Amino acid sequence: MSRNVVELAAQLVAIQSETPQSNRPVSDFLKGVLEEAGFEVEELSYIDPNGEEKVNLVGKKGGGSGGLGLFSHSDTVPGNVGWEPFAPEVKDGKLYGRGSCDMKGPLAATIVAASRFPTEQLTKPLFIAVTSDEENGHTGSHFIVAESKTLTSDWPEFCVVCEPSELIPVYAHKGGARISVTARGIAAHTSTDKGESANFKIAPFLAEMAELAQLFKTDKRFQNDEFSPPTNGFNLVLNDGGVPLNVTADKTVATLGLRAMPNAATEEAIQMVVERAKAHNLETEVSGTGFSHFYVSPDSPLVQAACRATGVERAVTVPYGTEAVTYQAHMQSVVLGPGNIAQAHTVGEFIDIAQLEEAVEVYGRLIDELCGN
Ligand SMILES: [Zn+2]
Repeated sequence: MSRNVVELAAQLVAIQSETPQSNRPVSDFLKGVLEEAGFEVEELSYIDPNGEEKVNLVGKKGGGSGGLGLFSHSDTVPGNVGWEPFAPEVKDGKLYGRGSCDMKGPLAATIVAASRFPTEQLTKPLFIAVTSDEENGHTGSHFIVAESKTLTSDWPEFCVVCEPSELIPVYAHKGGARISVTARGIAAHTSTDKGESANFKIAPFLAEMAELAQLFKTDKRFQNDEFSPPTNGFNLVLNDGGVPLNVTADKTVATLGLRAMPNAATEEAIQMVVERAKAHNLETEVSGTGFSHFYVSPDSPLVQAACRATGVERAVTVPYGTEAVTYQAHMQSVVLGPGNIAQAHTVGEFIDIAQLEEAVEVYGRLIDELCGN
């Protein structure tokens, strides 16, 4: 039995699953829908640091090995005020509601496409995975690549991350790196002149960072023309605790961020920041989601298959991040989904219904080519 993609997307939108809360209700619903579509479903859950249960689903349909996985997440950013985020509405060819675009709509399209293929028709297995906490450090995707028996016992050969890309295949996106640099001083009232300002201690380092920012903007070595913009978005924010003017700051933290790209000397750029901080005797800590960017050759078989399925001539790069950074170590990956990322996370989020319906066809062509004969 084949479901209607708009109806299914609307049903998913109506089950609230903002990242901080448990996604148990939407996962229970999804598990039933996947089973009805012929999947055997592995459920993997954990309790997050706030005590909320988070559920991940990995469904598999058809025997053999290799095959194709369609990867989505079931959490959404908060609903926000100013509209009715969990009352899906169809208007002017669009489906409105939180998650319609990012990414319950794309997820619905994968399920409807999969349900059109009887198990006997699949010579290689088809997987659908739905993660939790994507909007919070990609926690669910890290969890399933480590814990899912369905995946780790026999990885799919190919992985489509179904994030909205307007149905244009994406072969690369930037990653993120974050460096914290801390200066320590002594707090005292300025009338005593006994303090030591952490702000003055960090100031010479900050001046050097301003120079680095110029270097990164102008030196081609730190850029990659496959991306738009080609630069690494080097940025600095400061926190001295908001001390009043008559008190010296006892601690100042400079946080520096840059968007990692392949072939753009990212590790060297990070090293330059760390070395300059050390030269000024400041504490450093490199953290965040790591340096990882996502990259697969635009000539790889999966990207080529995605181009054929969509009729797009050439895959593109995008400036936003996805869980492809986690999956690419295990499977040949591509990002491809309906909807415009500009709609994600907005008040009045929507997805274009024509594109949502086209996505069912696109995923169907991919399944046919990669899991069929
Ligand atoms: Zn998303």
